[in-house]
Amino acid sequence: MLHYTERSHAGWHMKTNRKNIFLGILTALLAVVLSVFMYVDAKSGAVVPVLMYHSIHADEGTSLFVSPEVFAKQMEFLYKRHYNVVSPDKIIAYMTKKENMPIMTVAITADDGFYNFYKYGYPILKKYNMPAILFIITDKIGKPGRLGWDELREMSDSGLITVGCHTKSHPWLPTVSVDEKRLKEEIVVSKEILEKGLGKKVDYLCYPNGGFNDLIKDFAKKAGYKGGFTTNPDRSSAIDDIYAIRRLKMSSSSVDPLILWGKISRYYAWFKENR
Ligand SMILES: [Zn+2]
Repeated sequence: MLHYTERSHAGWHMKTNRKNIFLGILTALLAVVLSVFMYVDAKSGAVVPVLMYHSIHADEGTSLFVSPEVFAKQMEFLYKRHYNVVSPDKIIAYMTKKENMPIMTVAITADDGFYNFYKYGYPILKKYNMPAILFIITDKIGKPGRLGWDELREMSDSGLITVGCHTKSHPWLPTVSVDEKRLKEEIVVSKEILEKGLGKKVDYLCYPNGGFNDLIKDFAKKAGYKGGFTTNPDRSSAIDDIYAIRRLKMSSSSVDPLILWGKISRYYAWFKENR
């Protein structure tokens, strides 16, 4: 009897030890994961995940598109999970630490001024009352498949859509930067065209294909832009540089809720930046 009790007692000890080891490992793992998240949070505190869209249509022929259904699902995701979807002025306020950024903050941008944004994107944004920034190439206004002044004015006047400048002819700006007259056309004249057409200030510039350098950033600042948007992470500019605001390319593959959550979390942007 005594023998039996000792054995079961020893067995209980072994079980408890195993359980303790397991709990220890689990706690250590959680601590590591938590530290990584906290570290990234501290490092990327002022980074707003800015989503980059182009065309909203169902044609599989181009890579820079999402279908209207996918766009609707992605916006529904942001709405249902109570994301803080912000205007560009807010992005700047967060990046310059004038305001504290709520954790689940995101901004929406769409480049090149496709008409399908008005047809498919704008109604969904209106439905959810979510702001977005539209970057317009002024030479393309009113051209086939592109937005005209009527749509641009309507969206701009709604207060929901901020119209930004995407240059006059969509060139690779770093090669243009040697020609100051041409740079003025692309960055200053285009701004004036938009301001005249919309009857309001145009405060944001988006570099075509994300191409910029220090000279271009300076030029944009002097032209009166409050900020500049690019595409890819770029280690030559600081993460809180308001003239090099990074964006995340959105595609139809980013529709799964978990992938979408990961992509628009600050962690994805940070890891992409530092990999
Ligand atoms: Zn573009």
